[in-house]
This record gives sequence, structure tokens and C-alpha cells, in this order.
Amino acid sequence: MNDDQWANACFETRAIHAGQDPDPGTGAVITPIFQTSTYVQEAVGIHKGYEYSRTDNPTRTALQTALASLEGGAWCLVYASGLAATQNLFYLLRPGDHVLLSDDAYGGTYRLVAKVLAPWGIDFSLVDMGDLDAVRGAIRPQTKLVWVETPTNPYLKIVDIRGVADLLADHPARLVVDNTFASPYLQQPLAHGADLVLHSTTKYLGGHSDVVGGAVVGNDPAVFESLKFHQNAAGAVPGPMDCWLTLRGIKTLGVRMDRHSANARAVAAFLGQQETVERVFYPGLETHPNHAVAVRQMRDFSGMVSFTTRGGLEAAAAVAAQTKIFQLAESLGGVESLIEHPGLMTHASVAGTGAEVEATLVRLSVGIEHVDDLLADLKQALSVVAEAAVPAD
Ligand SMILES: *Cc1c(COP(=O)(O)O)cnc(C)c1O
Repeated sequence: MNDDQWANACFETRAIHAGQDPDPGTGAVITPIFQTSTYVQEAVGIHKGYEYSRTDNPTRTALQTALASLEGGAWCLVYASGLAATQNLFYLLRPGDHVLLSDDAYGGTYRLVAKVLAPWGIDFSLVDMGDLDAVRGAIRPQTKLVWVETPTNPYLKIVDIRGVADLLADHPARLVVDNTFASPYLQQPLAHGADLVLHSTTKYLGGHSDVVGGAVVGNDPAVFESLKFHQNAAGAVPGPMDCWLTLRGIKTLGVRMDRHSANARAVAAFLGQQETVERVFYPGLETHPNHAVAVRQMRDFSGMVSFTTRGGLEAAAAVAAQTKIFQLAESLGGVESLIEHPGLMTHASVAGTGAEVEATLVRLSVGIEHVDDLLADLKQALSVVAEAAVPAD
């Protein structure tokens, strides 16, 4: 089958086959790791489409073809990290242009815009993307990029992608959706009106906490040409081994996301019943303020769950330190469950910016272990809060 034929196959089938036909030279079923920097030419300027691996590499091409297919886009470019992909996208801007950013965008995205790009003359403002009236009011004539993340981190807020796209219908600004928390299996922003999709493939797409990478997917050929030119000029490319690990990860994306979502749903329900837990943040809960939008634009609700504990910062930090299966670590989206205290860990750098998170907030990346073990682990860890919350006599 060629790539056009795979286009008619279902998501799970394309995840395994799109861009990943057996190697024509050897019959290898799995895309080889083309660990080469250069390619022999038949004659001067006559080659097989590959000249130098900063520009192109066959393992990278396979990953790009697969990801474009999974997001329903015409093209994809992959990068050395999610932030390298983000930086490449910002090369579409020029001094004087304005970026509208979610007020709870990924901290690294905020840092890139506020600390690196703003001094080069890129203007930005922050807005609550969940409030479409606020978004309408914040769009300026100079706005060239609108940056949406959904679900957001760490409060798992949901932004109405179609709603924001409709606001931009008569405006030249491009709508970018950071789809890292959902993955293309659960949400395909291009189908909801986004112009570009960004991924940290480090998270669910890679899925095994063993590789860092990024991707941009889109449809506009002019944007592709510009991004490709700047990526080749600036060099933020992933190595073939990293592309291969990501390709291996995406083959199982569908089954992993089904299990992540099922486990997270059970964890959110369990937390909601605990006296030691104050509030649970999960878009799959009917009580989530934007549950209806989540149902409309997502197939399921992914594996991230946040909650606040009773008993203050000490209690929340104690829970995060007390779990045995949920390992205390930053990052997310791997098969193993992780727990963290955003205020002291991932979001410590936003202290003083107005984007602080609550001191009692705990964030879970729910893995694909057996749910009974995960619930038992949370139960024993929360018993610490119960003890801490009861004053000693
Ligand atoms: C991790 C992450 C990024 C940055 O990606 P890296 O691969 O760490 O550079 C961007 N957006 C979101 C939502 C992320 O979780």
C-alpha cells in the first residue's frame, strides 16, 4: 500500500503503517534508523532526495508522514524538542507583530515569548481562552498568532477550538493549538478550525518517557515552506534515533490513550469521594465547567488529573511524596504514573507572574498500570493528609 491508500484506513491502522512501509531495499518491516549525516550522490546534484541530515533524513520523513496523517494535516515537521517546534513557529512573526497567548500556557512557551521573543520586538498579551468575549476583546490588528492549549496545565481547563477559530474568521491571525495533552487520537484541532497543531512528542506521542521531541502539523503549503526554510537554516532538528523511538511510540497510541483515559476517569471518580480531597479537575467529569465542549471536540479525556487537598501545602506535598507507584517527577504522558506538586515543581517559575497555582494542588499523570493498584496507592498516600489534617492532641 502507498500513503494515499493508507489515507483511507482508520486511525489505529495509520498509526502503525502511514509513512512506515517496509524498507524497499531490505524488506525490514520496521523503518530503519538511518544513522547517517550524508548521502552519496550518483552525479553532481543527482541524488535520491536526501543530501544532508540537517535538511532531511529518511527516519524523520517516516515520522513526519505518520504524524501528518494522524492529525489530518497535509504536512508535518518534527524537531529536537517541543520548544524547538514552538520557536520555529515564532519565526513566522516579525518585530511589531502581536501574539495572543493562553494565560495558563505551558510555562516554557510563556518563557520563550516573554523572555526571549519580547526583547526582539514581539508583542504579546495573555488572555483566558475559555472566555470567548475576552479573546474577541484582546485581538488586535497586529495579532498574527493566537496560541491555544487545551486541555491546559495544570487545571485541565478546556478551550473551545471552534469558538476561537470562528472569532478569527475575518482576521489574518493564525490559530495554533498545542495538542500535547490530548494527542491526535483524542483531539484533532485542524478539523475544528485550527491552522496549525503543535506537539511536544515527548509526552503521549512518544509515550514511554524515553525521548524528547516536537512537531508542527498544518495544511498551508506556504507556511510549510517558511517553517522548513527556517528549521534548516537554524538547525533545531531531531536525530534519527529519537525519530525512531517516537515512531515506535505512536504505533500504540490508540490503545495507550484508551487505557490512560479509563484509568484517569476511575482516579477522578475515586478522588471525588475522598474527604481529604477538596476539588478534582478532570474534563471527563460532568461537573467540569467546560465538559460539554470537551465532549464535542475530544474522543475521550486523556490521562491528566489534578486535585487540591485539605490540610495546606504540607499535606499536598506529603501526598506527592508518599505514593509508591505514582513516581514523584515532572513531565507526563508516559506509560508509568507520575505525581507532582506544581506549585513547588513544574510551576515554581511562574511565582510572581500572576499565574501562580494553589499551594494544595497536586497533578497526576495517570499511567496504564492496573487501576486497582493505582487507586490503592492513592488511598494509602491520602491517609497521610487525614493524619496531618487532624490536629494532634
Ligand atoms: C512539555 C510541553 C511542551 C514543551 O515540550 P518539550 O518537548 O519539553 O520541549 C510544550 N507544551 C506542552 C503542553 C508541554 O506539556
